[in-house]
Formats: sequence, structure tokens, C-alpha cells
Amino acid sequence: MPAPVIVWFRQDLRLADNPALSLAAASGAPVIPLFVLEEGGRPLGGASRWWLHHALARLAGSLAALGSPLVLRRGEPAAVLDALIAETGADTVLWNRRYEPDAVAVDSAIKAGLRERGLTVRSHNAALLFEPWEIRNKSGDPFRVFTPFWRACLGAPPPPRPLPAPVSLTSPAKPVTGDALDGWGLPPTKPDWAGGLREAWVPGEAAAREGLLDFLDGPVATYGGDRDRPGIDGTSRLSPHLRFGEIGPRQVWHAARHAADARPGAAPGVDAFLREIGWREFSVHLLHANPGLPDTPLDPRFAAFPWTDDAAAAGAWRRGRTGYPIVDAGMRQLWETGWMHNRVRMIAASFLIKDLLQPWQTGEAWFWDTLVDADAANNAAGWQWVAGCGADAAPFFRVFNPILQGEKFDPDGAYVRRFVPELAKLPDAWIHKPWQAPPAVLCAAGVTIGRDYPAPIIDHALARDRALAAFKAVKGEG
Ligand code: FAD
Repeated sequence: MPAPVIVWFRQDLRLADNPALSLAAASGAPVIPLFVLEEGGRPLGGASRWWLHHALARLAGSLAALGSPLVLRRGEPAAVLDALIAETGADTVLWNRRYEPDAVAVDSAIKAGLRERGLTVRSHNAALLFEPWEIRNKSGDPFRVFTPFWRACLGAPPPPRPLPAPVSLTSPAKPVTGDALDGWGLPPTKPDWAGGLREAWVPGEAAAREGLLDFLDGPVATYGGDRDRPGIDGTSRLSPHLRFGEIGPRQVWHAARHAADARPGAAPGVDAFLREIGWREFSVHLLHANPGLPDTPLDPRFAAFPWTDDAAAAGAWRRGRTGYPIVDAGMRQLWETGWMHNRVRMIAASFLIKDLLQPWQTGEAWFWDTLVDADAANNAAGWQWVAGCGADAAPFFRVFNPILQGEKFDPDGAYVRRFVPELAKLPDAWIHKPWQAPPAVLCAAGVTIGRDYPAPIIDHALARDRALAAFKAVKGEG
């Protein structure tokens, strides 16, 4: 019997298009699938812990069906791997790469250490269409502007076709023990606030594949316009599946291209959708080139930005009690379901940063804790983009008006009515500015401002002037 091969799962919780797993299966050697609950690094947020629990439960079921159960261990990955190698006599360790700076440091040290001891270690790409070192500008540097980046991606040879899931795995001669998933206590219990997450999501590889196919069968055709309408289910909702690697971007790419060939009318929607997959790719490449992205502004001028520290205002924002319905609907959607529509993420983030002058890192941390798709690259890049200090970012002086944004992108108020039910009976004309509604309209809708729904915590016009003045000071024009 050849020595076992360890496949170390991390952000690739799937069987299909998993190069590390496929290579292990093809070796014919016994395969030990491993997941390590790591100590060190940034702790996962609450919503991510909930997702991880269910993703691991499903992955464990699929691996057991193939013949080799998932082994769960907790600790420093280097020590966990050392112990497992000593126990089993494994001579090979395979994994798919990750790109967060602290994870890269951990993985590089482990790879060097194991190789020094004569083990075979191989890492693969399962998370990206292109590796960060494959897409470079003419000077050989990473791109900092999205459009030429995406053009370069589209001009490169297409990403390889996804690998099929292995049909079976050889199990190790002696069963390998591990922790019980329930013992990790990943989902919340006291209190159990995950009811909305359970209603909104089915984690796992099968649900990810189904979600992709459903999206490509229907909404993708009108994605170009609908993707900005939070009241419509017009986007794929694949983000948590992509975050945990229950589906990979190569699978998305090839399935989407196939859908465009089969249904030419859907081609513009497919292109627009793949462009967003491109933004995900761009964020990871940015993080890889700028390890400080999660907490340090890429534009160094912003290090001196005169942020205010207003715990009450930040608390109202977190709870969805700012008095601006589109912002509050977004923040409540986030709290209830662990996800927020992209358009509303931009509006809510702009409100925190520009209307309330709170540091973008405050918002990044809240999203990190509450999003099921919380991702080091996308989250930080999103916040820096809105703040105006990121790569290819929205200029700081472009301050979103939460009333106009609501009226434009949620014209019938469907989104606000769903997540701010106390305003549900207001007519469309007032749903995004209830404090301006005539008393008779408010009375007919059963709304008393200040009692049923808060008055705006800040006047947007004044807040905008304050933000622009603060920005001028940073730019040295004050
Ligand atoms: P779709 O519109 O169906 O897009 C398909 C996929 O493309 C998404 O699943 C996602 O992987 C990727 N994508 C889409 N839009 C973006 C974008 N603007 N930037 C990068 N990738 C994108 N996305 C995360 O996955 N994790 C985060 O932590 C995260 N934080 C964000 C914070 C802020 C302040 C902002 C403005 C955006 C953030 N995004 C984040 C990006 C985006 O909002 C979500 O990816 C998107 O809403 C997910 O919904 P979907 O899967 O239906 O997207």
C-alpha cells in the first residue's frame, strides 16, 4: 500500500474542480481529507462561522460517500499536519492556494518545512480564473485599474475547463480520528440568531451548483439592468458559495459561456455577470499585491482623514435605525439574512463613511462579522472603493444621496417595504423620505416619525458639505 496523501481543505469545500483532491484521487494512494480550524489570523465572523459549519457538514457527507471521511482537527496548521503525518506515515500534502497575506505566510512556511523533510507538497489554483502573477500590466506590475485588468483577463487564454469530481477515494488502512464538528460550536446557540440565515440559505456544493444553473437559466438574461435593483432577485447570490469554495470561478466561467452560446439573447447579461466575477478576481489580485488592504488605505493621504468617533451614530447604522429607509433596509437585510444587495452595500457604506464620517474600517469590521460572504479581499476592496481611497475607487467627492438612490433603484419601494415593514403602507412617493410626507399621509400609513420609525439622524445636505470640507483638508485644499 503506498503512503497516504493528505488533502488539506481550506477555502475549497467542494469535490468538483478541486485540483488537489483530483490529484490525490488519481494517485491511487489512500487519501486523508483534512480541515483544520485554525488558531491565529483574523477570527471568522459570526455569520461565516455558521456557514462554515454547514459547508463542512455537507463536504464531510460527500467525502464519506466517496470512501474517505473528512478529518477535522483544531490548532496551528503546521503542528496539526506534523501530528497527522507522524500518525499515518503520509508522504504527500496537497492543497489549493489562498491569498490572504497571513495565510500565504502560514502556507509558505509549511511548504518549505515539509519539503525540507523530504515530503512532497503541491499547491494548486482552485479559487481564481488567473493567478495574480499571470495577469500583469505592460511594466510587469499588478494592475490598479479594473478596466484594463479585465481586458487583459479576457485577452489571456481562457481558464482551463473544470475538473470532474473524483468517483471514489481509497481510504487509509487504519481510520484516522478527528474532532466532532458539533464540538467546534461554530453556529450561535445562546442566543441562536441564525434563524434568518437558515431561511435564506442552503450552504454546500450541490446548492451552489443548482444556484448557478438556475441563475443562468433565468435571471442572467436581464442581469445588466436588474443587478442594481435590490427589490428584484436579479443577481446570482453565489457570493458565500464562492467565498467558501463550494463552487469555483472556472465552473462559473464555463457554465456562463455555455449559457451564452445556448441562448444568444442572454449573452450581454452573461458578459455583465462575468465582469463582476472579474471584480472578485481584481480584489484578490489587489490584496495579493497590497497585503495591508484590509486595514490601510491604499491612498496614503487618507491615513490623516479627520474621521469622527460617534458611537451612537455608528450604532444606529448597525441596527438599521438611521431614518433613511434604503440604508436601514440594507442594514436589516444584512442582520436578518447575512447578505446585502451590492447596490445597497454601496449606499450603506457611503452613508457610514461620508454622512456619518466614521472610518471605513468600522464598517468593514461590521460586515466581516455579519456577512455570510465576508471575504478579506472583496470586503476591504469594497469599503476602500466607496471611501475613495482604494484602487480605481469612486472619488470621495461623489457622495451618494440616500433618497435619490432609493428612488432610482427601488422605485416602487419593494425592498424597503420588505425590510422596514413599519413603512410598508406609505405610498411610493414618500417611501424613501418619510419625514417629508404630509401628516395626513403618515397618519393613513400608520407611521409617526420618531415613534414608529426614526427621524433622520443627520441632515444629508449638511453631512455632505461636512464630508467635502473634511476631504479638502486631506487634499491640502482646506
Ligand atoms: P452577483 O452580482 O451575482 O455577482 C457574481 C459574483 O461576482 C459574486 O458572487 C461575487 O463573488 C462577485 N462580485 C460581484 N460584485 C462584486 C464586487 N463589487 N466586488 C467584488 N466581487 C464582486 N463581496 C463578497 O463576496 N464578500 C464581501 O465581503 C463583500 N463586501 C463588500 C463590501 C462593500 C462595501 C461593497 C460595496 C461590496 C462588497 N462585496 C463583497 C461585493 C458585492 O457586494 C457582493 O459580491 C455581491 O453583492 C454578492 O451578491 P451576488 O453573489 O448575488 O453577486
